[in-house]
Formats: sequence, C-alpha cells, structure tokens
Amino acid sequence: MNCPNCQETKLAEIIFNKVGVNYCPKCLGLWFEQDELRKAKDEKDQDFNWLDIDLWSDQTKFQLGEGQKACPKNGVPLYEAGYGDSGIKVDVCEQCHGVWLDRGEFKKIAQYLKNKGNDEMLNNYLANLAEEAKEIFTGPETLKEELADFAAVIKFFNYKLPIQHPYLMELIKSLPK
Ligand SMILES: [Zn+2]
Ligand SMILES: [Zn+2]
Repeated sequence: MNCPNCQETKLAEIIFNKVGVNYCPKCLGLWFEQDELRKAKDEKDQDFNWLDIDLWSDQTKFQLGEGQKACPKNGVPLYEAGYGDSGIKVDVCEQCHGVWLDRGEFKKIAQYLKNKGNDEMLNNYLANLAEEAKEIFTGPETLKEELADFAAVIKFFNYKLPIQHPYLMELIKSLPK
C-alpha cells in the first residue's frame, strides 16, 4: 500500500498495543483497517470499561465531505469526516472502512477530549497515559509522539472515533453518487 499523501512512499507496519498499524515513514500519517480499529478497541475495553464516555453522541455534529485522498487499499476516493468544532479530520473509505489520519490528528482528538472533559483528575490521567505509552514504545523514534497520543485516546475514551460511529456509515451511504 502506498501513502495517500506522498503517493510514491510505501506504508510500513509496526505492532502497537498488539494491533498492526500502518504508517507512512515520510509524512507519519496512520492507516487503520476496519478490523484493526475493532481489535484496538476490544483490547482496551477489557481494562477500561469503567470509563465509557461517548463524546461523539451528538449526531447533528458530524460533517462529511469529499476528500482529496484516495484509499491506499483499493484506490477509491476517501471521504473526509469531522465532528463539530473539534478541528478533527479523518479520512474514511466507504468500501473497506479503513481510516486514514494525518499526523497530528490524534493530538487534536486528545486535546478536544481534554477540553471537553475539563476535569483536572482526568486530564492528568490522560497525560500519564501518553507518557506511559512513550516509555514502552520501541519502534521508530519519529512515530513516538503520534502513537502516544493514539494510545491515550483509545485507552482513555474507549476509542469512539467519529468514524466508528454507525451513524457516519449511514451518512456516507446516503450521499448522492
Ligand atoms: Zn506519506
Ligand atoms: Zn478502501
């Protein structure tokens, strides 16, 4: 698979939190196949069920539009999905349900969640998780920050990316072709 941003660059894979993660060595974007998202969530759910906050619960806040990128897996155009005023943008494939995140998207998600949480104890907890993830990480140094944010997000928030929301898939299907 080639990077949807850099095109000529092949995506590499590492195992993180027992989940295979594809990333671009050049722009450090991340690609998750549908199954990988589910596995990441299941893995974490066992430990963190007690903190189940659905931050994507307001269906009217989803935004969806035609994106600029093509799916690295099957080449179809990716849809760009956002949520409210979060500034978060992810690219999703309607066909294989893979998700592409540019570098920094997990940081935006973590930041958005922090602001929404507005609770000192929870904020400290999130920061600790990010540090913890950095300490156990043994892959390429350049990916450290990005995956630390990823780990914090999935651990802390039961991994409810807008993209996984069933309502989003309904929206995509209802778009005129
Ligand atoms: Zn790239
Ligand atoms: Zn696809």
